[in-house]
Amino acid sequence: MTTFPFFSVPYAKHFINGQFCDSVSGESFQVIDPTSEEAISTVERGNAADAELAVKAAKDSFMRGDWSRAKPSFRKEVLYRVADLIEKRSDEITYLQAKEMGEPVLDSSGKVAFYVARSAQNFRFFADEQAQAGDHAFNHEDRLMTYTMTDPVGVYALITPWNGPFMLSTWKMAPCLAYGNSAVHKSSELSPLSIQVLCEIFQEAGLPDGVYNSLMGYGAEVGPPLVSHKDVAGVSFTGSPATARDISGRVASQLKRTSFELGGKSACIIFDDADIDLAAKEASLAIYSTTGQSCVAGSRILVQESIYDEFLKKFEAEAKTWTIGDPLESETTLGPVVSEGQYDRVMSYIDIARGEGRVLFGGGRPEGLDKGYFIEPTAIVDAPNSSRICQEEVFGPVAVILPFKDDAEALSMANDSPFGLAGYIWSNSIERAHNAALRLETGMIWINSGFARDLRQPFGGVKDSGQGREGGMFSREFYTETRFASFPLNPRRDD
Ligand code: NAD
Repeated sequence: MTTFPFFSVPYAKHFINGQFCDSVSGESFQVIDPTSEEAISTVERGNAADAELAVKAAKDSFMRGDWSRAKPSFRKEVLYRVADLIEKRSDEITYLQAKEMGEPVLDSSGKVAFYVARSAQNFRFFADEQAQAGDHAFNHEDRLMTYTMTDPVGVYALITPWNGPFMLSTWKMAPCLAYGNSAVHKSSELSPLSIQVLCEIFQEAGLPDGVYNSLMGYGAEVGPPLVSHKDVAGVSFTGSPATARDISGRVASQLKRTSFELGGKSACIIFDDADIDLAAKEASLAIYSTTGQSCVAGSRILVQESIYDEFLKKFEAEAKTWTIGDPLESETTLGPVVSEGQYDRVMSYIDIARGEGRVLFGGGRPEGLDKGYFIEPTAIVDAPNSSRICQEEVFGPVAVILPFKDDAEALSMANDSPFGLAGYIWSNSIERAHNAALRLETGMIWINSGFARDLRQPFGGVKDSGQGREGGMFSREFYTETRFASFPLNPRRDD
C-alpha cells in the first residue's frame, strides 16, 4: 500500500474578478468527507447578491476585451499554461477529489491521475481548436463573395454536478473560455474543493481577472438568479433532468442558449456472439467505476438468453475483483458514494428492487466498513423492464440484468426508457452491431468497448438525457456566434 501525500483542505470561497471572497450574506455551510462522515471544510453559501457580483465581473471582462478580443494565439498560450499547472498539481487535485466525493486516488501518487490528465487535455484540445479552426468563404456565381466571422457570445453560466467535479467542470470551461467568452461557474455544493485549486491556477496562468468566476452554494439558492440574469447569454448545465427542466422554464422566455447534459439508464446489450469474458469485464467497469456515479454508467445489462447464466457467473466474479475502502489507499478501486442523501437514495432503490426482482449479489454495506457511505457492488435480476429499478436512474453501484430472446427484443427493451444517453453493444458481427446502433435511441454508442473518448465526439443524449451536444466543433457551435459579411465581385467574364 502506498501512502498518498496529504494536502491541506481549502476553505471553499467564491472567486470573483480574480479574488477569493466571502458571501455577501456572511453565511456558510460544511463540506462532509463521505469516507469519515466528518465535516472537513466550510463552503460559502451564495445567493442572488453573489451571483450579481460574479455576472458583473464576467460581463465587465467581456466588454473590456483583453480576453474576448485577444488573439487566438494569446488565448492558446494562457490555456496551455493552465493545462501545465493542472498536471503539476495533479496529486493535490486527486487528493481533494477523494476527500470531497470519495473518488479513489488509485496508484497515481507522483503521476498525473487519469481524470486530471483528461482535464489538462480538455484545455489543450480547445486551445488548439479555437486557434486552428478557420472561417468560411462562399463565392456565389463569381458575383458575390461572403465570408463568415466567428465571435464569442458573452457570459455563460456553467453548472456542474458533484460527480467528476474537476474534470466535468473543465469540460465546460475549456471550450467556453477558449472561444473568448467569460464564465460564471457554479460547482456542486457537495464537492466544491478541487475547484479552488483551479481558481488559483487561472490566476497563476495569467487569465485576465473576471473572465472566470466561481460561485459556491446551494443550487436552489444561487442557481436561479444566475441562470436568469439578463447579462447571461447561455447556460451549459450538467446534472439531473429535474434541474434542467427548472432552468429551462426560467430561461426560455429570455431566448438563451442552453446545453443540457443529463442522466441515463444506459443499456449494455450483450449478444450471444460477443466475447463474453471481455463483455463481463467491461460491463462491470461500466457500472461500478466511480461507484456507479457516472452519467454514462451501463446500469441496465441486457444479455441474450443462451448466454445469460454463464454471463451472470462471470459478471459476479468480476464484481468480486473490486476493492472497497478508503479512497486514499492505493488498492481501493471502489470508494463511498458522495453523501448521506445519496447513500439513503441508493439503499432505498435496492429495497424497491427487492420487491420487483431479486438481489443476485451485494445489496448492503460492505463488511468491516461501519463508517462512510459505502455500498457493495450490487446486481438485481428477475425484475421486469417496466419496473422502477429498470426505468429510473439510481446513480450508485447497482446493475440490473435482464435476459432477451433476439435482437428485436433487445432493442425494444433498450429503447423502452425515458432516457437516451449511452448504449454499449457487444457482438462479434459488425453488421449486427451496426444494425443495433442504427436502432438504439441514444446519443452515444460504444461497440465492443467501454467508455472511450475522442474529444471531437458529439457528447450528449436524447430524450430525458439531454439537449445539445458538446465536444469539438459541436462546442464551437454552442460557444460562438457566426456572422457573415458579403461584397459584390467584379465579374471576370460577361455572360
Ligand atoms: P443536480 O441537478 O441536483 O445538480 C447539478 C448542479 O445544479 C449542482 O451544481 C447544483 O447545485 C445545481 N442546481 C441545483 N438546483 C439548481 C437550480 N434550480 N438552478 C440552477 N442550478 C441548480 O444533479 P447532481 O445530483 O449534482 O448530479 C447527478 C446528475 O447529473 C445525474 O442525473 C447524472 O446522470 C447527471 N450527470 C450527467 C452528465 C452528462 O454529461 N450527461 C455527467 C455527469 C452527471
